[in-house]
Amino acid sequence: MKKAIFWFRRDLRLEDNTALFHCLNDFDLVIPVFIFDKNILEKLPRSDRRVEFIWHCIQHVKNKLNDSGSDLIVIHDYPDQIIKLAKEHQVDAVYCTEDYEPDAISRDQFIGEELYKNNIQFRHFKDTVIFAKKEILNQQGLPYHVFTPYKNTWRAKLHVSNFNHYPSEDQLGKMAKLESSTLIKLEDLGFEKTGIADKKIVAANHAHELFAAFKADKVRQYKENRDFPGISGTSFLSTHFRFGTISIRKVVREILELSDVSEGRFREGCDTWLNEIIWRDFYFQIMFNDPHVVQSSFKPQYQHFPWLTDAELFKSWCQGQTGYPLVDAAMVQLNTLGYMHNRLRMLTASFLTKIMLIDYKMGEQYFAEKLLDYDLAANNGGWQWSASTGCDAQPYFRIFNPMTQSKKFDGEGLFIKKYLPIFADVPTKYLHAPWEYQKELHALGITLGKDYPRPVVDYAEARKSTLICFDEFLKNTPKSE
Ligand SMILES: Cc1cc2nc3c(=O)[nH]c(=O)nc-3n(C[C@H](O)[C@H](O)[C@H](O)COP(=O)(O)OP(=O)(O)OC[C@H]3O[C@@H](n4cnc5c(N)ncnc54)[C@H](O)[C@@H]3O)c2cc1C
Repeated sequence: MKKAIFWFRRDLRLEDNTALFHCLNDFDLVIPVFIFDKNILEKLPRSDRRVEFIWHCIQHVKNKLNDSGSDLIVIHDYPDQIIKLAKEHQVDAVYCTEDYEPDAISRDQFIGEELYKNNIQFRHFKDTVIFAKKEILNQQGLPYHVFTPYKNTWRAKLHVSNFNHYPSEDQLGKMAKLESSTLIKLEDLGFEKTGIADKKIVAANHAHELFAAFKADKVRQYKENRDFPGISGTSFLSTHFRFGTISIRKVVREILELSDVSEGRFREGCDTWLNEIIWRDFYFQIMFNDPHVVQSSFKPQYQHFPWLTDAELFKSWCQGQTGYPLVDAAMVQLNTLGYMHNRLRMLTASFLTKIMLIDYKMGEQYFAEKLLDYDLAANNGGWQWSASTGCDAQPYFRIFNPMTQSKKFDGEGLFIKKYLPIFADVPTKYLHAPWEYQKELHALGITLGKDYPRPVVDYAEARKSTLICFDEFLKNTPKSE
């Protein structure tokens, strides 16, 4: 009897799972395993939404496996335990989903070599993205650094085989018969509850519900609504893509099917949304092909850019205390929910890097700690785009004006009022630049500097000095450096 271990990592689902499908196809018996990796967990604060989210996903997979007479073996240890387990169970192979992060690649290389020494195969399969690694190359056979031509080639190359359904769910009978065990408690992993399970948009088993709601209605106005944080206009699927609780092929397949039978805004919405999915693939291939981005700027020229590290200013940004309401409301959303709307990720990142001139790596790290959907490739790509150090980044002289952004994208103050309740009963026109209405606000019981901060930096002055700083730096730094 041929046996294998299936190692769940960032593909926490039983259905339409490529690697699991191949594992079930190739072997008579499959032992499912998940490792709570101490290398990762030991570095995290005791209250971490992601660990709790994963815990719920694992519980969900475990319950489903129990329904088919199996169980999930859950280990709280270092990833090399997979080698010990493979030897103990005398399996022929370990199968898993391919991971593109540099640390994960080194881990897998080590594990693969050790397994190989023991005559155990180690196979990975693409499941996280539609196109990976070097599948989309330019005419010179090189990876793209600019999104639009990447997107055009991505779309031209897309074939039904790229979004096949792999019916892993139909073969669960081949999972090893295991007695069901109790999942290790979150507390025993060393973590506290954060209450994330109560937040529906990020709840572990809601991916399919979210996608159904998106397809049924939201997609129709996605193109118009997606930039307005006060409207629930996006899919909120990023966390699910991060942990693989929904198949990326399923969403692409179904969005294309919907697009085919739709017209007008429905079709435009599908198309616009698909572009966002392509951005995701784009950043994955950048990280894989140019892994230096993880440590330093994509453009080597910016290696020694004189970013500031002002601790007080940085703290005001982190805590949503800058005195710019939309920036602050966004940071409150991040700190309380572990999520931030895309327009606001761009605004807050621009504010930190271009108004405060603070090192993008500090902001990148803060987002990494707080975001439930934190993904190294997309987060790094988004930060370097905002800081103008990345590939296909916005030009350095493009600096988001927080007042204009606020008027344009939260004109009625729906978002600001939701996350900064102090402004709940304040007329909208005071919200976008409250320092200009100090008297009026005072009459409403709000004193700037006491109840809400005065601006910690002056936008116009900061913008001017940032432009001078970039101009000077670029004048004195050759492009090749
Ligand atoms: C500074 C900064 C940091 C970011 N950090 C992350 C991160 O850590 N993890 C993450 O998933 N996204 C990140 N993004 C991208 C984007 O903000 C989120 O993917 C999006 O807000 C998630 O909400 P949604 O699922 O409702 O998106 P939707 O609008 O419904 O988009 C659908 C999917 O497309 C993908 N997507 C959308 N926009 C982008 C983008 N610009 N880059 C890459 N993929 C995209 C996501 O997987 C998303 O779930 C970041 C953007 C910026 C500017």
